[in-house]
Amino acid sequence: MRPPQVLREGTKKTVFVNFMDLCRIMHRQPDHVMAFLLAELGTSGSLDGQQRLVVKGRFAPKNFEWILRRYISDYVICPGCKSPDTILMKENRLFFLRCEKCGSGRSVAPIKAGFVARVGRRNTGT
Ligand SMILES: [Zn+2]
Repeated sequence: MRPPQVLREGTKKTVFVNFMDLCRIMHRQPDHVMAFLLAELGTSGSLDGQQRLVVKGRFAPKNFEWILRRYISDYVICPGCKSPDTILMKENRLFFLRCEKCGSGRSVAPIKAGFVARVGRRNTGT
């Protein structure tokens, strides 16, 4: 696993330069990896024109590395034989991890959401 390359953009944004490369290495959909990263960082972000992931806030390369490690252990490595040779499939609204090596399969936890969607305060009682 290559370490994440991270740049600061101004004072309020962080650019994850080799995001797409790491998705390719893990054989995972960038959308899924991005959703996990943003939920774990508790921020929002998007891909720029050069396919780099730009997120709001200041984060160190370590932050990304820890989250990617967790992603790999939750969504890439087979819990049975520890092979990274797995496929993530979506059925209905659930994700399943299927191992190419030992053939085992299991459902994986959906990505938690919430941080990004909570914007501002609601006025209650008026
Ligand atoms: Zn396996």
